[in-house]
Amino acid sequence: MLHGFAGKILHVDLTHRQLTIEEPDEAFYRLYPGGSLMGLYYLWHNTPPGIDALDPRNTLTFAVSAPTGLPVSGQSRCTATCKSPTTHGVADSQAGGFWPAELKFAGFDAIVIRGASETPVYLWVHNGEAELRDAAHLWGHFTHDVDTMLKDELGDPKVEIAQIGPAGEKLSMFAAVMNMSNRAWGRTGVGTVMGSKNLKAIAVRGTQQPQPADKKAVVALSRRGPKLMPERRDVESLGRYGTADAVMGQEGAGGLPTRNWDSGVMGIDEAEAISGERLYLELLRGAGDGAQDKLGRDTCYACIVRCKRVIEAEYRDMALLPEYGGMEYETISTFGSYCGVSDLRAIGYASQLCNMYGVDSISCGATLAWAMECYEQGLLTPAETGGIPLNYGNAEAMVAMLEKTLRREGFGDVLAEGSARAAARLGKGHEYVLTVKGQEIPAHMPHVKRSLGLIYAVNPFGADHQSSEHDPMYHPKLYEGKPEAPGYKRYLAQIGLTTPTAPKAMNPEKVEFALLTQYNYSAADVLGYCQFVFGPSWQLYGPQEMADLLAAATGWDVGVDDVQAIGRRRLNLMRAYNAREGLTRDDDTLPKKLFTKPLSGGRTDGMVLDPAELDAALTMYFELAGWDVETGTPRRATLEEVGLGWVAEALSL
Ligand code: SF4
Repeated sequence: MLHGFAGKILHVDLTHRQLTIEEPDEAFYRLYPGGSLMGLYYLWHNTPPGIDALDPRNTLTFAVSAPTGLPVSGQSRCTATCKSPTTHGVADSQAGGFWPAELKFAGFDAIVIRGASETPVYLWVHNGEAELRDAAHLWGHFTHDVDTMLKDELGDPKVEIAQIGPAGEKLSMFAAVMNMSNRAWGRTGVGTVMGSKNLKAIAVRGTQQPQPADKKAVVALSRRGPKLMPERRDVESLGRYGTADAVMGQEGAGGLPTRNWDSGVMGIDEAEAISGERLYLELLRGAGDGAQDKLGRDTCYACIVRCKRVIEAEYRDMALLPEYGGMEYETISTFGSYCGVSDLRAIGYASQLCNMYGVDSISCGATLAWAMECYEQGLLTPAETGGIPLNYGNAEAMVAMLEKTLRREGFGDVLAEGSARAAARLGKGHEYVLTVKGQEIPAHMPHVKRSLGLIYAVNPFGADHQSSEHDPMYHPKLYEGKPEAPGYKRYLAQIGLTTPTAPKAMNPEKVEFALLTQYNYSAADVLGYCQFVFGPSWQLYGPQEMADLLAAATGWDVGVDDVQAIGRRRLNLMRAYNAREGLTRDDDTLPKKLFTKPLSGGRTDGMVLDPAELDAALTMYFELAGWDVETGTPRRATLEEVGLGWVAEALSL
């Protein structure tokens, strides 16, 4: 008997309006237990090489895993996979909330969507059944309004809804899929692909609880989180201040990307004005009465950390509404420090607009920052921007340009293409574009985290800050004089990492750290684990518990090595898919500006990255991964070792 999984995968052909249910055998689930590992299997088999990402044949999969829906903190995450319109390779994006668990309760491990509808539709999935319904009445509405309309229409407030917003309808290249109107499958253009299919929403609801193989083990693991939480100051702090807690640390290290990465510091007063603490004290719901811990924090299914923000305030005469959540660190940085803006309420309003229209706040904010640098350098004129003075620090201009971008009005129509395409369309500003594989880079600077820079370059779906552990967790200072091994040391040792090295060092130990933690984070994404709960940084659960929960859910005899192997298999399948689509080692690099323009101010003053250092690190990384050092494609022997011999055949390796 298959435990943990629902045992069913829903296939949706939008062109022919056909729905079919597949019941794979256990051998399939063992090789492809969820997330983009499962999604890529379908993407590979359903699509011919080289199709455009907006071709109806593109296959969009939402997949969870065996632990999803169990009453343990940090298990309710789902991955969306397809071919990316941004990178032209694999698209991969995770979101949390309650939708992932509810998909399992509705009776499915994954939804695989092909084709395109001629008219807008939504998918209604409930207790093992599914149907397509007309969505013309939902088209054009903001995300929270659609949430309300669909819950009313389906007669159940507990229905969970994944949807595109108006930006996805207009095929913004950084459109997101939203759930709860504040959780985003944001990166790599998955919302653009869903929009191209005329699929407005996927509503899920059910009562089919997952049946784990070992209920007692699940209960024991579920109790571990609350027991450890008071001892883990970092997790407590994450819960209280959210990911925005990172702002001041980044500023202190010279790693807060400022003015389109001209600097790693905003200045202490400006950084403090957009800090997690300021957000907590001033904007969270209930802050006026000191009740923000009760009213201003939200969570995902069964998670005790409650790190999500709920804000209730005003920006000028506009309301900041609690239903659109609050800002993560990345959003604060891209609309704040990237743009030189220190008005936290303006940033809150920008975040709300992103969630209303449904876009990735990283790529969107970073694209505005790119336009600001072009404007400051005289490459863009007021005539081109519709009279909006796009100077750094001008919060009003930032918000005005954002609104135009979300509506694709005037110059906003150009910016809705993302910075790389916008530069190509205008024929200028290339030197200020900060993308990897066409996607804007997130708000952690390789100048102070060298392994992260390597992962930014090599990651199959563009620069990502949640695809490996960050360098400071491997800092020798953290380990000195601590024979009793703090959590991060214990957890990193479980995956074979025992030789810490400085954050700014790039050496074989650091490359090994990058790759082995990348496998671990990759496995977390496959298994639907939140990296704020399962990871060395936060330390409620580590690699051993990742294996223990998978074993308890499925009854499989799995350990840490098996978890690492799952992560490695996903990474290899992604790289192989990218090779099929024409990506090579030449795509594994960082934006030119990072190699050529020294940072100014703070602890990173004068710093530039060294292209030779990155090149050498890439070669070490490919050797260690078992990939061809010339092309970056997995070798046949490596693919066979990870159970993907058929991929080697398909690529004629
Ligand atoms: S730590 Fe935060 S993001 Fe992760 S599952 Fe818990 S509430 Fe959700």
